[in-house]
Amino acid sequence: MRTAGDEPSGWWLIYLAVATSTESPKIIDPRDVLRRHGLRANKALGQNFLTDASALGAVLDAAELEPEDRVLEIGPGVGTLTAELVQRAGCVLAIELDETLVGVLCMELGDRPSLHLAHGDILKVPYQRMLADTCGAGSYKVIANLPYYITSHVLRLLLEREPKPETIVVMVQKEVAERATAGPGAMSLLSLSVQTYSQAQVMAQVPAGSFVPQPEVDSAVLQLKVRPEPLFPKISMERYFAIAAAGFGQKRKGLLNSLASNLHLPKAVVQEALRAAGIEPLTRAQQLGLEEWARLCDTLPAA
Ligand code: SAM
Repeated sequence: MRTAGDEPSGWWLIYLAVATSTESPKIIDPRDVLRRHGLRANKALGQNFLTDASALGAVLDAAELEPEDRVLEIGPGVGTLTAELVQRAGCVLAIELDETLVGVLCMELGDRPSLHLAHGDILKVPYQRMLADTCGAGSYKVIANLPYYITSHVLRLLLEREPKPETIVVMVQKEVAERATAGPGAMSLLSLSVQTYSQAQVMAQVPAGSFVPQPEVDSAVLQLKVRPEPLFPKISMERYFAIAAAGFGQKRKGLLNSLASNLHLPKAVVQEALRAAGIEPLTRAQQLGLEEWARLCDTLPAA
């Protein structure tokens, strides 16, 4: 891997200037690339290609890239984001499911020494091992304009599988970004999981017209700073999420009913656990914050 420290000082300064620039980056027009290669976007693979330079800039700003960063890009498409990532980071591994697009990317960006392209399904490939083999072991960032049909799956995978990335910056449906960052009153299993493992922030709103073909919904740039240490080190995450899943299992019911029925516990036992955790029995799952779920792990009897 080439690092900024290996370069002569003049190059280093130019490198730094590029990396810290806040101007909108130049953007490859995906329509041109598709036309040149005689291709069309494959909707079944969630191919909505970025065409807007300021949206691309918002993703790059949120990624806070340094010249020594290792980056995993999911779904590089025709390389719009990839071309910028290779300029700003030390090493990029881009994994794309569409084999035809991997071929296109090889032709378009194959001459960049810090770029490694791989064909595969992000949900199935050992991406941490592939990253270590290509870019070296160590901390890494995940940056992606995610195919919408696998967003929740991918977020869960990235947040749960070790070693986790230090930062995740993803373009997702606006509603998903709102749900992931919601507070007590509008919590869901998604926000609970995202916020338990990371500090989440919506960095920019991106209108549907920023992509071709244009999706039906607006998007947003979501930044997740993954927690380096567990938020609740003494609590089993398996138990924490099992209790939460039981609570969210019947969203319209109060926690007394949903926990008793989904955890197969007598109501009197659940009532006492809720009281000991300082939670009213009629409270609904979406109203609880992270700490309250953690308290329930202590007060509910082990299965
Ligand atoms: N990064 C490009 C951009 O910003 O224009 C393309 C983004 S497009 C929303 C999503 C990309 O992910 C497509 O290129 C699609 O083929 C690819 N993709 C879909 N499912 C995938 C999977 N399971 N694993 C890896 N890539 C996938």
